[in-house]
Amino acid sequence: MALTPFEIAKKQIDIAAEKIGLDLNLAKYLKRVERALIVTIPVRMDDGSIEIFEGYRVHHSTVRGPGKGGIRYSPEVNLDEVKALATWMTWKCSLLGLPLGGAKGGVCVDPRKLSKNELERLTRRYTSEIINIIGPDIDIPAPDVNTNAQVMAWIMDTYSMNKGRSIPGVVTGKPIEIGGSVGREPATGMGLFFVLEALCEKLSIDLKSQNIVIQGSGNVGGTIAGLLYNEGCKVMAISDISGALYFSEGLEINKLLEWTQQGKYLKDYKDKRYKLITNEELLALECDILIPAALENQITYKNADNIKCKIILEGANGPVTPEADRILFEKGIRVLPDILANAGGVCVSYFEYVQDIRAYFWELDRINKELKKIILRAFEEVYMLSKERKISLRTAAYIIAVSRIARAIELRGIFP
Ligand code: GLU
Repeated sequence: MALTPFEIAKKQIDIAAEKIGLDLNLAKYLKRVERALIVTIPVRMDDGSIEIFEGYRVHHSTVRGPGKGGIRYSPEVNLDEVKALATWMTWKCSLLGLPLGGAKGGVCVDPRKLSKNELERLTRRYTSEIINIIGPDIDIPAPDVNTNAQVMAWIMDTYSMNKGRSIPGVVTGKPIEIGGSVGREPATGMGLFFVLEALCEKLSIDLKSQNIVIQGSGNVGGTIAGLLYNEGCKVMAISDISGALYFSEGLEINKLLEWTQQGKYLKDYKDKRYKLITNEELLALECDILIPAALENQITYKNADNIKCKIILEGANGPVTPEADRILFEKGIRVLPDILANAGGVCVSYFEYVQDIRAYFWELDRINKELKKIILRAFEEVYMLSKERKISLRTAAYIIAVSRIARAIELRGIFP
């Protein structure tokens, strides 16, 4: 039986706990979430009927600061998944040294089936339902799968209306006009690019000559595809929910991104040279760098043996399961783990939060410089530890992230 995302998250804690020699009582504590709220969201639909949706907001740990993490809208969302995603946010913020904890939210809904007005009503009702556990010093949501700056604007407005004043710091990833930060939208892709470049340098690999395959073309997959394409790399395949396009000579990513940004599916893109393949076929393509940038549980014990690349760059959260991790490690494939690789998003979210609190906004140049500094510092720590102890980059990242949280708990003590 395949493990659920939260079972995987717990297993990863066990692996790190064993390596650190962590107190079993602490490990037991870290495998629980601090709080989880399940809410019912009734929405008046445009045709007058009422639909009921279920939503969640979970805090895994706020021991190092307010909770932080996105909100996703997807028909697959459930409490187990949100608990895992909240846990991964704890490690991500800890690894980067941000004074934030781990949280996540989600609504079980297919947003493509809702009109814009229905989506707004759903977002505002969801925000009202979770209003007591979010806030600039409690928990700060952000975009995730199928949510964007507009959704954040509705959350910020709903929260502010209820509190009687504008509180931009309640969410990050907002539109720039209402307190958002420049550079937040492409931040996850930028972070991916920085760590990939750094790993290639360590391994004496020339990034420009690499063959690249990308799963996903949303905010994360699309941005990294564009950055690599502009760098002159050959992106051989890219996918969306409709399927994947493949061309061994390299796709014209700029044109494909224009297409997907119009809300069109890749399967409908017309170019005789391109072959339409499935997601499974995409993952099994022979390439140098594979970038899963869609959902969790994509590379499992079932298909890990078929993976034919040198480096996996995790744009998504949790795309590789622990069993697959072991197989990939034995095959000598380097995995740049999610909690490091895709941490650029939350890093610039942190900058946005700081700018909102101070009401003083930075230039793009400063954002990108500070992002690069923070993510490369974490990369360096992870890389050195993995080399020193001959462990995977993921295990090294977990050792650092989990140790920091454990230390914070020890210092604060268990209340009362
Ligand atoms: N949803 C993003 C993530 O998984 C960003 C979270 C944030 O900015 O708070 O890292």
